[in-house]
Amino acid sequence: MAETKFIFITGGVVSSLGKGITASCIGRLLKNRGLKIFMQKFDPYLNYDPGTMSPCQHGEVFVTGDGAETDLDLGHYERFTDEPVSRHSNVTTGRIYSSVIEKERKGHFNGGTVQVIPHITNEIKNYLRKAAASGADVVLTEIGGTVGDIEGQPYLEAIRQARRDFGYENTFYIHVTLVPYLRSADEIKTKPTQHSVRELKSMGLQPDMIILRTEVPVPVEQREKIASFCDVADRAVIQALDLDIVYEQVNKFKEQKVDEIICQHFKLKTNSANLSEWNTMLDKIKNIDGEVKIALVGKYTSLKDAYISVNEALAHAGYQFRKNVKIKRIESDDLTEETIGTLLKGMSGILMPGGFGVRGTKGALLACKYARENKIPFLGICLGMQMATIEFARNVLDYKDADSSEFNPLTKNKVIDFLPPGQYPSIDLGGTMRLGDYNCQLDKDSRVYKYYGEEMVAERHRHRYGFNNDYRKEFQKKGLDFVGINPENNLVEIVELKDHPWFVACQFHPEFKSRPNKAHPLFIGFIEAALNYQKGE
Ligand code: GLN
Repeated sequence: MAETKFIFITGGVVSSLGKGITASCIGRLLKNRGLKIFMQKFDPYLNYDPGTMSPCQHGEVFVTGDGAETDLDLGHYERFTDEPVSRHSNVTTGRIYSSVIEKERKGHFNGGTVQVIPHITNEIKNYLRKAAASGADVVLTEIGGTVGDIEGQPYLEAIRQARRDFGYENTFYIHVTLVPYLRSADEIKTKPTQHSVRELKSMGLQPDMIILRTEVPVPVEQREKIASFCDVADRAVIQALDLDIVYEQVNKFKEQKVDEIICQHFKLKTNSANLSEWNTMLDKIKNIDGEVKIALVGKYTSLKDAYISVNEALAHAGYQFRKNVKIKRIESDDLTEETIGTLLKGMSGILMPGGFGVRGTKGALLACKYARENKIPFLGICLGMQMATIEFARNVLDYKDADSSEFNPLTKNKVIDFLPPGQYPSIDLGGTMRLGDYNCQLDKDSRVYKYYGEEMVAERHRHRYGFNNDYRKEFQKKGLDFVGINPENNLVEIVELKDHPWFVACQFHPEFKSRPNKAHPLFIGFIEAALNYQKGE
């Protein structure tokens, strides 16, 4: 294949427009045309990466296989396209500046004055080249934020230059905007889109396609109006209506020839996108019959996006059984001896996701105990596994002071402790955890093995503490099995209660590897157990 092609996706009018989903859908269509794609996001904030940001503010931190802590949009990219993203897939202003400053300290700039243009913009463009170096036919780069934001300007300038650097026929600009519907006037408004495109043009960027996010269909006349005001071909004004099944957006874009318009611009000759597998998945989703209720007991339940991959993974497992997974978000802080019965009433399973810090751990321990004693299916993830083992130590092994050194460094029984030296580089907070893919060897006699169907799996991690091997024998004796072990460092990866229909907890984050057409084995096992529980089996 000839030179790499670049697609840039910007957003206008408001944030949270679903640019990430838009980029993902286009990525999926291009992949299904047989093209090799690379997905990337530029985030204009100053943090080096989102690793240190609160999930309540910024939503989930998505972890890549190569161990980068990234924006949650990368989760959409992987779920929609099933193509792995990498550490070159998410770039922030903090990262760009820190590498430019590091170069300056090393004298790389030969006495020159270091400036936003060209030094910062060049560094930004380096990441486009790194993406192209993956061997991709098409790189799709989403620019975070909204056109007009001060922070975003260097990125817009960099992608403007990209057309000069890489060539007109190798670059394609998509602008995603909001078309509001005014209920009282019963009218659709195109003015915000016009303003937003004007703003984009003032930065020297001319969109090749405009995607309209809208609650109601946009009539042809309005689309033509936008095309003419914004100087875009009529057929390149695309609508993205709110959909019940978000994965269907791929089909909606195909109907409007989004991928065809792009490939024509790039002069790429490919077959049309084959969506037969995709449609089989959609049929499953459309034929959902019934539901299963799952309690999500966590620390960051105030923001839905804080557990977005967990929510998605639960939904994916539901599709396998044609069931809708209804999630009840419960803040672990709200759980007490008095409230627990009411709050968990009617739930067929309890999922405890990851988290940091001591807040909420009391309630979390109660939930673990409740699931264990009442034989309610339980899936613990990362902090969820740590809580499950601490609860077991306190109430089954009778170590009343059992804890994690994260919460009580002075306790005698640290069943959860710092990972062995070498596993955690430093106690600085940014990027220092055990991150990304590590192997996990499964016990062939375990329940989880039945779902995985293979002995060695790689799973994604993001933790600083882990199970203290000194306690393994005692736990085992009392019926908690260690069924997944990292063979390289002998670290506990999965535990399973013997005398329970499904009490499974893992140190890694299975949710990151779940796909809508390929649900994760642990989620499938959990949902199956929840359905059995619901049936009263
Ligand atoms: N706070 C725990 C640790 O650092 C769990 C992390 C998590 O749940 N991602 O090990």
